[in-house]
Amino acid sequence: MNKSKFSIESETVHADHPKSDPFGSHVMPIYQTSTFKFDSVADGRKFFAHEEGGATHSYSRLGNPTVDRLESILARLEGLGLPDNKEISALAFSSGMAAISTALIAMAKEGTVIAQPALYGCTGQFLKEEAPELGIDTHFLNLNDLDALDKALNDNPDVKVIYAETIANPTMEVSNISAIADLAEAYDVTFVVDNTFATPYHLRPLEHGADIVVHSATKYLNGHGTLIGGAVVGRNTIFEEFNLATYRKNLGGVMSPFEAWLLLNGLKTFSLRMERHAENTMKIAEYLDQHEAVSNVFYPGLHSHPDHDLASDIFEDGYGGVLSFELKGGFDSGVELMENVDLCTLAVSLGTADTLIQHPASMTHSVMDEELRLQAGITDGLVRLAVGIEKGDDIIADLTQALAKVEPVTI
Ligand SMILES: *Cc1c(COP(=O)(O)O)cnc(C)c1O
Repeated sequence: MNKSKFSIESETVHADHPKSDPFGSHVMPIYQTSTFKFDSVADGRKFFAHEEGGATHSYSRLGNPTVDRLESILARLEGLGLPDNKEISALAFSSGMAAISTALIAMAKEGTVIAQPALYGCTGQFLKEEAPELGIDTHFLNLNDLDALDKALNDNPDVKVIYAETIANPTMEVSNISAIADLAEAYDVTFVVDNTFATPYHLRPLEHGADIVVHSATKYLNGHGTLIGGAVVGRNTIFEEFNLATYRKNLGGVMSPFEAWLLLNGLKTFSLRMERHAENTMKIAEYLDQHEAVSNVFYPGLHSHPDHDLASDIFEDGYGGVLSFELKGGFDSGVELMENVDLCTLAVSLGTADTLIQHPASMTHSVMDEELRLQAGITDGLVRLAVGIEKGDDIIADLTQALAKVEPVTI
């Protein structure tokens, strides 16, 4: 029987229902316990011998019912369209970075990673600084340049992992997941995709041939900005091949039951939220695109975006909730915009219900070497907007009044 019978909308609404509960609780309780008692010696022995009929849990770092419930829904969401989606599992982590680093340590040890150059900051830093000390080297390469990727795979027999993000920051470039997956398969390399920005609402990389999906659950999966969490999702066979559950158990970056419960609660409205995020972002992208103070808008939903056709082929129901844009007035205009927004919250991150705005050159990337910052596409006037689920017209009105206060530029 196909495990996922319903659409993503219905699956998520029922995300927090326990399969069974001794008291008939409608929503999944928080099993806030570190250890679990055994009914008998035999009960405990069977658990540790992985035999049927014994205890189901022993200690919350190895497994916890609230966290298990979350993992089963994440596996269902990422595996929704796969015929053999029963073979998909998920492991929840204490943060997106715990998920990413644990997965890479397990899968790329004593090998090479080929990764896209524009990576989430901490992922990039991990690959450049800590991973080499653990015997993991990284080649940075535009993965959508398939000839270059083919050559790199051909030249380097040590490649173990190809690592991509569905949408790269800040240029919002979209990875050609299916084509990269074909090459990964041809060279017997594990293809890992960070699906935080697109989420399974818009794109499910496993359906396009990726082997492993990683998430910062901190963002859209939670949706309310109330926790830090992460997940790794993939086929049981790959989890077993790389002992991922053992790596998580021993490196120890497990999710706590309370965070799992908050995520289950947040996931109930996942589809509604994603629909609104995407609808608002499209509207705002079009608005900014014709604004005289703006020179460039980066959003794959816009026809002018270089990856628009690719995104249209692989994304469903919109293009996500993050866009960036460049102000003609550069650095000073960015600072002025930040100081004049009212509805938008001045904060880093994404995937919260409210709209978050930030100006990397004066905030997150202000201490970065200027040349490196510009190389990464983070120009002086670049602004990042993580669009929320307020009424779209209200966000546009806020941007309109704040942009009116930005020094007019003489062109
Ligand atoms: C936030 C983020 C991460 C890191 O996740 P944490 O939950 O903050 O550890 C990784 N990848 C992407 C794309 C992110 O946006």
